[in-house]
Amino acid sequence: TAKIAKANEEDRCFWSFEYFPPKTEAGVINLYDRMERMYTLGPEFIDVTWNAGGSSSDVTMQVCTTAQSVYGLETCMHLTCTNMPREKIDIALKDAKAAGIQNILALRGDPPRGELNWTKCETGFSYAGDLVKYIRQEYGDYFCIGVAGYPEGHTENPDNDEDMKHLKAKCDAGADYIVTQLFYDVDIFLKWYAECRDVGITVPILPGLMPIQNFGGFKRMTSLCKTYVPQEIYNALEPIKEDDKAVKDYGVQLAVNMCNKMKENGIRGFHFYTLNLERSTRLILEGLKFIAPIEQVRPLPWNPFKLQHLQSLANGRE
Ligand code: FAD
Repeated sequence: TAKIAKANEEDRCFWSFEYFPPKTEAGVINLYDRMERMYTLGPEFIDVTWNAGGSSSDVTMQVCTTAQSVYGLETCMHLTCTNMPREKIDIALKDAKAAGIQNILALRGDPPRGELNWTKCETGFSYAGDLVKYIRQEYGDYFCIGVAGYPEGHTENPDNDEDMKHLKAKCDAGADYIVTQLFYDVDIFLKWYAECRDVGITVPILPGLMPIQNFGGFKRMTSLCKTYVPQEIYNALEPIKEDDKAVKDYGVQLAVNMCNKMKENGIRGFHFYTLNLERSTRLILEGLKFIAPIEQVRPLPWNPFKLQHLQSLANGRE
């Protein structure tokens, strides 16, 4: 909390990067290289997703531990609470604390791959709010806890007022900040943001931005999340949809415009769904003048901890 609340109080802009756990060891090493380069972009924190049901929780834990202890990045671990026994949650929290991780994004979780519904486990929880309460009960103020928010409403709950009540309840249970689902219509976000404040939600709210990387991926993701896409975005993409570079460049400009509009409306923290990619996020930060163009950014000094860590990975000790 301290860091996010402080940045918010200081009224300065800040940004954070989300990564997902790669499927292969080579992917993990690649991600470390990317994280190391993206360290120079100055994220306030980074976070790593947790696959539904904890199917790759060991990789999430390993990446979080490395980010925190090797790169010194303020790291937030996502943790879901459905389709998983409470023992697994206990182990995750204990291991996170042992690794020096002090930030958890507490989530209910999507149904595991190939399943339509999520299930409560016998000793588990039903909603993210249950997990927030549990972490507070077990760990007091040790963890800074984030929760998810949905400017367009949560897909399972057609009643937006109910959804807002549940979001408020998560904050009352002890959440320190909110990160939103991706969206492409800033007006929808700003309206929802004002509603959050109206119902008494006072914690920082970080809009989640997913830079468009290619047309197919964009269509898949927006239909999966049922995201509203303004017609002008489709109109702009239609003639360039086969040209990945043009789509990426458009995605960068779109995100810069979206962030600038939010900035004009008082938003200071921006959360990027990087999809483990570097270029678009960097260009957006440059476009916003949050960072200097890359030629002027100094490389990280040689890091003996990283070398040691990579060696032990290669030796199969971790
Ligand atoms: P909740 O806050 O529990 O809400 C879920 C639904 O239940 C909503 O419709 C809500 O209105 C309703 N509800 C909440 N509390 C109650 C209650 N007490 N009684 C009745 N209804 C209630 N998924 C993953 O599997 N791994 C990840 O790493 C991951 N990261 C994410 C990061 C962000 C920023 C976001 C926005 C989502 C992420 N998700 C992730 C997806 C998330 O797990 C799904 O959207 C899931 O469907 C809902 O999770 P939640 O934590 O918002 O749930």
